[in-house]
Amino acid sequence: MGSTLNQKKLWEAALAELEIALSRANFTTWFKNTSILEINGENIVIGVPNTFAQEWLQNKYHQDILSILTKLYPQVTNIQYKVTTTADKSKQIEKKLESVLVEQTIEKSEIPVTQDIADTDLNPSYIFDTFVVGSSNRLAYAAAQAVVKKLGDRSYNPLYIYGGVGLGKTHLLQAVGNEIKKKQPKKVVIYSSCEKFASEFVEALQSKKLETFKKKYRNADVLLIDDIQFLSRKEGTQEEFFHTFNTLYQTNRQIIMTSDTKPQSIPQLAPRLSSRFGSGMVVDIKSPDFETRQAILQHKLEERGFNLDEKSIDYIAKSVQNNVRELEGIVNKIIAHCELYNIQPNFKLIETITNQLTVDNRNVHISADDISKTIAEYYNVALVDLMGKRRHKELVYPRQILMYLLRREMGYSYPKIGRLVGGKDHTTVIHGVEKIEKKIQKDEILQRDIALIKEQLYSF
Ligand code: ADP
Ligand code: MG
Repeated sequence: MGSTLNQKKLWEAALAELEIALSRANFTTWFKNTSILEINGENIVIGVPNTFAQEWLQNKYHQDILSILTKLYPQVTNIQYKVTTTADKSKQIEKKLESVLVEQTIEKSEIPVTQDIADTDLNPSYIFDTFVVGSSNRLAYAAAQAVVKKLGDRSYNPLYIYGGVGLGKTHLLQAVGNEIKKKQPKKVVIYSSCEKFASEFVEALQSKKLETFKKKYRNADVLLIDDIQFLSRKEGTQEEFFHTFNTLYQTNRQIIMTSDTKPQSIPQLAPRLSSRFGSGMVVDIKSPDFETRQAILQHKLEERGFNLDEKSIDYIAKSVQNNVRELEGIVNKIIAHCELYNIQPNFKLIETITNQLTVDNRNVHISADDISKTIAEYYNVALVDLMGKRRHKELVYPRQILMYLLRREMGYSYPKIGRLVGGKDHTTVIHGVEKIEKKIQKDEILQRDIALIKEQLYSF
């Protein structure tokens, strides 16, 4: 690499190695938002987002980092870890947006007339151009494009897209939003996950800011709601969503939803809602067939300026069948590896990485029981107490963390968590989960606790 050495490339390559060496939970916890700030002869300065990560990298991962960097940049003898604020910029923006939403200020609901693309929560890389079309998603793609041309048209309103995990629903949904903002910047586009809609609603109720909440959503020209299946069992939120839906629909504003299942198969969804969800156009996205998987791989490689022979592409396309996100993961790993060792890819390497990643994914199987036991142990409380009804002060916090992890790691619904943990009401669970979600943004001790708990969990 020598004189052409580039800080960003070097760190990406090192991260790729670290990712393989460490457990996934550890890797994401400690290496997120890190970068190389400076390379100066034998010194390398690594930027970290907070003092906590700084200590942790220094004390726990320094040897790993040093040995990996030495392979890539043999001169290095000294590594420093420095807290930077810019490394964390995207997080700061996220926080800012979040605080705006939480405050639910009147001003916010009045802004939309000049809504900026940055205020839409849309990911700019989820656009039509980067979406590969094949027989599995052609109809959904066509419907999404038609909506852009005929906003609010009754034959495509609402548009309901459903399909399995990692098949491109979110990508397509946001592509509509991005395209509309590009062509008709004045339109107010609101993208939200169903969960976020629900939690904003609960928050608005609690803080008596319901009017602001209603105004925000009923102001949309285009409402994009991701993963609507999570509306299941949330009665109050269903009611509110029903009214929002009707208000928008009656004034010909466009609604698009995604889900993992058909409207009528969402458990415990009020019939009046499922019938409305299915009243416009319903399309599904299926798992990509072999040819589409090849095309997606080609496209992802091209995007990165990388090339693989046919045999390699076929091998990957054969190994990963049901999830585009996994295909992407393999491409990223291959590129990182080749850049790291400055080598051309060969079939053996492709085979190894593909097998490694597909096996890895199957290994990560933890249960709700594992989570409760680990938390009881970590906080030194009896498992029966943790899972029970007693309201002792020292039990409340571990219980909330338990709820949070059941939600995040297992994807359990709030009522299910409530039933598991002391027969709590689902609103208590939402409150607990949200409390931890908020606290984790700022509280470094909690970040560490969660990381350690996860470390335990995934090394079972
Ligand atoms: P879902 O919401 O269905 O779980 P996502 O939209 O999050 O899936 O897609 C997972 C990843 O795969 C994203 O990075 C997305 O860009 C990519 N992806 C999915 N389908 C396609 C496609 N047809 N063409 C290109 N990328 C795709
Ligand atoms: Mg999604």
